Amino acid sequence: MNLKELETHCKKCQKCNLYKTRNNVVFGEGNENADIMLVSEGPGYNEDIQGVPFVGKAGQLLDKMLQAVDLSRDEIYITNIVKCRPPNNRNPLEDESKICLDFLRYQVKLIQPKIIVCMGAVAAKNLIQSDISITRERGTWVRKGNIDFIPIYHPAYLLRNPSAKKDSWEDLKSIRKHLDLLANND
Ligand code: URA
Repeated sequence: MNLKELETHCKKCQKCNLYKTRNNVVFGEGNENADIMLVSEGPGYNEDIQGVPFVGKAGQLLDKMLQAVDLSRDEIYITNIVKCRPPNNRNPLEDESKICLDFLRYQVKLIQPKIIVCMGAVAAKNLIQSDISITRERGTWVRKGNIDFIPIYHPAYLLRNPSAKKDSWEDLKSIRKHLDLLANND
């Protein structure tokens, strides 16, 4: 199955209850050959309406953060742990995440990123370590298989806590450096 076929399949998914309240499945978007994949928790209101990840206020901040380290959406692939919006933006339930992770695993297999940035606790807990603390461990690289993972604050958290932006700036610079090192080793 290629990415397009996987998306078509994902858009029909009814494996958990989130399909009952969704307007659109938000599969993910970006460069299918990206070295870097950004994974967050799940679609919000605007994403559910448009079917595209990170198009609301958090998305606008994300775009600015990426621009600051010379990265554009064309170079990256963005998706979420769950592809359907949890009602009222609650965190995805454990079994919703577990079920939906099969799609993410397949996306990773097809895209083969070298770096996965986990934005926020839900992504970090599902992809790095179940008891991870973002406040303590943000910015720390963890290698699993062939992929380097880094947890960072979720952009929506930064909107609520602007004083944390300075930590995210350090994390973004670390990501830029890591990408440059990978490019030099190719
Ligand atoms: N927040 C998320 O976690 N994911 C999105 O796609 C948008 C906002």
